Amino acid sequence: MTAPVIEVSGLVVRYGTATALDGVALTVGAGEAVALIGPNGAGKTSLVDAVTGVLRPAAGRVRVRGRAALVPEGRQMFGGLTVEDNLALGAWRRRRARGARDTARVYEVLPRLAALRDRRAGSLSGGEQQMVAFGRALMADPDVLVVDELSLGLAPLVTADLAEHLRALNTGRGLAILLIEQNARLALDLCARGYVLEAGRVRAAGTADELAAGSAVADAYLGAA
Ligand code: ATP
Repeated sequence: MTAPVIEVSGLVVRYGTATALDGVALTVGAGEAVALIGPNGAGKTSLVDAVTGVLRPAAGRVRVRGRAALVPEGRQMFGGLTVEDNLALGAWRRRRARGARDTARVYEVLPRLAALRDRRAGSLSGGEQQMVAFGRALMADPDVLVVDELSLGLAPLVTADLAEHLRALNTGRGLAILLIEQNARLALDLCARGYVLEAGRVRAAGTADELAAGSAVADAYLGAA
């Protein structure tokens, strides 16, 4: 088995005296799609920040092998810039700037972006902006994509379409994905495996089928009938 692209163990994150994550362990294997689901305040953003190096954990270990690219919550476009300029900004982490070639590669993977390239990002729909955020992350030529709240503020059909693009990137190109989602149904449909985070701890972990059948997810997130 190849080493995981993301390996988190014993992760503790504190804000002052408040403990946001209390001993979290999680792995994402190469080419794997993994869901992290949980309600507001569970600690999802803290985990993303620890994995992307934005915050320093109080304890534990975060190991990323290869390159991780973030698709941030709320998409974070530069609204006044064109789609193409927003994409270019995604390449800033690359050691060698290969702008035009990288942009062409992204347009090949997400052809709809090519048609939007000269539009101002701020004039696009939420779904289109999320697509730009995917493209911008792909500019870093990542081994793993960390997608924070894919479905936030988007209509179900738009979300489903974006999820299919993620699925194609995962199955077609072997890009690993860590999908942070409040929408458990969407996350478990897209990902083979997942974790349920609650109050800073992993309450359940397993295959998507196990989690969907398990009471932890069914009760809390799938609206068990
Ligand atoms: P949401 O979906 O609402 O963003 P989340 O699952 O991402 O929630 P976090 O944002 O990681 O959760 O927050 C986890 C816990 O840490 C919450 O109880 C939150 O109130 C607390 N917290 C987060 N940031 C800070 C901060 N800067 N100072 C104090 N407490 C914080």
